[in-house]
Amino acid sequence: MLSPTSNPVAGYAEALSRFEVYLDRVCRNYLYLQKKLKKGTDCAAVVKADAYGLGAAAVVPELYKANCRHFYVAKADDGLAVRAALKGQDAHVYVLNGPYGAAPKELAQNHLIPALNTLGDIEYWAGFARDGGQRQPAIIHLDTGMNRLGLSAVDVTRLKSNLTLLKSLDIRYVMSHLACADEPEHPKNPEQLKKFVELIGQLGLPCRLSLANSAGIFLGSDYHFDQVRPGCAIYGINPQISLPNPMQGTVALKARILQIRDAVCGETVGYGANYKLSSPAKLASISAGYADGLLRSFAGGGVVYINGQKCPVVGRVSMELIVADVTQVTPSPHEGGWAELIGEHQSVDDLAAAAKTIGYEILTSLGGKYKRIYSGQGYSCAVR
Ligand SMILES: *Cc1c(COP(=O)(O)O)cnc(C)c1O
Repeated sequence: MLSPTSNPVAGYAEALSRFEVYLDRVCRNYLYLQKKLKKGTDCAAVVKADAYGLGAAAVVPELYKANCRHFYVAKADDGLAVRAALKGQDAHVYVLNGPYGAAPKELAQNHLIPALNTLGDIEYWAGFARDGGQRQPAIIHLDTGMNRLGLSAVDVTRLKSNLTLLKSLDIRYVMSHLACADEPEHPKNPEQLKKFVELIGQLGLPCRLSLANSAGIFLGSDYHFDQVRPGCAIYGINPQISLPNPMQGTVALKARILQIRDAVCGETVGYGANYKLSSPAKLASISAGYADGLLRSFAGGGVVYINGQKCPVVGRVSMELIVADVTQVTPSPHEGGWAELIGEHQSVDDLAAAAKTIGYEILTSLGGKYKRIYSGQGYSCAVR
């Protein structure tokens, strides 16, 4: 053999990376959350950003089989994609960013229910309903401290003095969103809960209510109301980062080792030559970079696993390459072999921590970049 590190069965013709999605674990996570709810609370699923990068077309039908009947997206187009994934099956699809991005008629025809975040949204959607002579479903979003979207206390007072505006609307939920639910002891949580109840009282509408995201579910039944809206926990991200993760990881990502080389003490690795070897090292160049959704901030603290052994990423993250120090790995890795980025040894949250970000950003940035390999379809049918 010409090279001591090449693998005679390197599989040159095979893919350079493998992104797997375990749909059974998505369903398990959903069912786990559902079991935590007080009686009568519906468990919706947030599937915005293409189901946090896992692919709404595959995730939505599985959650439907797990009896999920409420789906949240951010944008109208994604709502249409969820409708398509549902293939005519009956479920509620809500659009968080409001009645934007499609003609109101198209939203209505596809039964996409907008969250109305401003008085302007309410006027617009109520006007459309009145003109068509048909009540239109909607969610009213109240701001209770995020200062992001939703009616302020002043807006609520103004709406209250103009309640006829709501006559043409069928208000399915009044919702709000928690800013700090992932920190269970944060005083903002009870503050927002109190504000929510106050604003609801002021509005004085008989309405179903929704407040909690994934982390909000873990704050206890006071936060559950009529519907919860988990996203991250369904996809295996730890909803309360300071506690052990009760959720199961739902994705795995592996990338191929393209080259193994020996470098001597004092040599540098990668762009900028800012990583200098302090001893001789065996280096593996791996086919994954920032264009593959691996953030540049992954350099400096990131690791990959080869043969189940931890290997530090050295030097900068390139567009489609990283380099790992594999000096300690036994048996020695070979060219054409695999490095684990996410999987058994490293969770999405671990990878996120190394890249100084959150699991959400990792999942959504990996999302569209790979051909997804799905397994575990039909899990919820099997458990029933
Ligand atoms: C994204 C989002 C959620 C889901 O949040 P997670 O932290 O992923 O559970 C719920 N509600 C709103 C309004 C959101 O924007």
